[in-house]
Amino acid sequence: MALIVMKFGGSSVGTTERMGRVAQRIVDKKLQGDRVVVVVSAMGDTTDDLIDKSKEINDNPPAREMDMLLTTGEQISVALLSMAIHKLGHPAKSVTGWQAGIRTEAVHGKARITDITPDRLHKALDEGNIVIVAGFQGMTDDGEITTLGRGGSDTTAVALAAAVKADVCEIYTDVDGIYSTDPRIVKNARKLDAISYDEMLELANLGAAVLHPRAVEYAKHNNVNLVVRSSFTQNEGTLVREEAEMEQGVVVRGIAYDKNVARISILGVADIPGVLAKIFTALAEAGIDVDIIVQSGVQNGKADFSFTVSLADRSRAMDVIGGIRSAVPYDEATYEENLVKVSIVGAGMVSNPGVAARMFEAISKLGVSIKMVSTSEIKVSCVIAAEPVQEVVRALHTAYGLDTADTAFVGGPQDRR
Ligand code: ADP
Ligand code: ASP
Ligand code: MG
Repeated sequence: MALIVMKFGGSSVGTTERMGRVAQRIVDKKLQGDRVVVVVSAMGDTTDDLIDKSKEINDNPPAREMDMLLTTGEQISVALLSMAIHKLGHPAKSVTGWQAGIRTEAVHGKARITDITPDRLHKALDEGNIVIVAGFQGMTDDGEITTLGRGGSDTTAVALAAAVKADVCEIYTDVDGIYSTDPRIVKNARKLDAISYDEMLELANLGAAVLHPRAVEYAKHNNVNLVVRSSFTQNEGTLVREEAEMEQGVVVRGIAYDKNVARISILGVADIPGVLAKIFTALAEAGIDVDIIVQSGVQNGKADFSFTVSLADRSRAMDVIGGIRSAVPYDEATYEENLVKVSIVGAGMVSNPGVAARMFEAISKLGVSIKMVSTSEIKVSCVIAAEPVQEVVRALHTAYGLDTADTAFVGGPQDRR
C-alpha cells in the first residue's frame, strides 16, 4: 500500500463542478488501495480577488492581516473538497495548515516552513480518512497564522510528502507537465519526461510558475519523488529527479521569463572603496533582494550602477537609496519598470561555448536591445523591454531546437496571463 500526496492547484478546483471531478480522482486513487493526503489551493482566482478587496479598503494593509485574509481561500477549498468526497461515500477530513502541524518562521507573506509534526495526519489516515490539508499556510511558534508566498501550496505538498515519507508527491495542475517553456506562450513547447532538481529549481526561480521554487528545494533536499501532471487528463506527467539518469547532451533544457522585475540606476556615484558595500548593505537590511548588478565605466571619478529588484520592492528600494544619499553621494537615482527577464536554463551549457552568443543573436535579430545580462553555470538571463517577451521566448525556443510538432495541452481558462 503506497502513501501518496496529491496537490491540486487553483484552476483544478476553480468551480464546484471541477471540485467534484477532483474528488472522484482522489477516490479512484484510494480505491487502488493507496493512502492519500491531499493538498489544495484556493479556488480559481480567489487569492487575487481577496488581494483586490483588501486594496479597496487599505492600499498598504498590515502583513499579519493579509495572511489572516488570504488563508481563508484555502480553508474554503479543503472543506468543500472534503464534502465532495463524503458525497462519493468515502471518509475524509479537512485540516488547516496548523492542524496539519506545519510550523513556519515568524514572517508574514513569505514564511519558510521550519518543522512539521504530522501526528494528527497519521492518526486521521490510520482511521481510514482521506486527509485534505489547506495549502500555502502554517503557524508560527507564537500561534500566528502565516502564508508561504504566492504559489506556496506546492511547497506545502512537498514538505508534507517529506514529513510523512510519502512514496510520491503528485502536483496536479492545468498543463500536462513541465514543458521546455510556458506552453501558453509557445504552443509547440516540448513536454519533458524528466527534469533534474537543479534545472527545475533554476527555472522556477527565474519565473516558471509551474512549481514554487521552495517546493523544488524541499524535494531536492529530502529526495522526494515529485511528479507534475494534469488534473484534466490522464496523461503521464514530468518527473523531477536527480541528474544521474538524465538524458545527456541537452544544452538548453528550458526557457523561463519573469515580468516581476524593476531596474534601479544610481548615476554618478563617487568611485571610492566601500561604496557598493554601503548601498547593498542598506538594501539587505531593509529585506530587499537584489538580483542582477551592473557597474558601468568610471568617468571623472564617478561610476554608474544598475541593479534589479522585484516590482513589489521597487518603491521601498528607491526610499532606501534616497535615505543613504548623505553617506553615499550620487548625482541621480532613477528606476525603470515594464521590463522582463528572459532566461535559458540547462545543465549542459557549462561545457558548451557559444550558448550565450546564440541567445544574444536571436534577441538582436528581433531588433530588441538587451539591457542587462547575468550568467551562472546553468543559465543565462537577459533583461529586456517587456513588450516583445512572447516573440523573444518563441525565437529562443526555436534557436535552441526545442520546438516539437505537437501542440501542448493547456487546460483551464485560456486568458490567464
Ligand atoms: P496551479 O494553479 O495549478 O498551481 P500555476 O498557474 O501556478 O497552476 O502553474 C501552472 C502554469 O504554469 C501553467 O498554466 C503554465 O502557464 C505555467 N508555466 C510556466 N512555465 C511553465 C513550464 N515550463 N511548463 C509548464 N507550465 C509552465
Ligand atoms: N492560493 C495561493 C496563491 O494563489 C497559493 C497557491 O495557489 O499555491 O498564490
Ligand atoms: Mg501554482
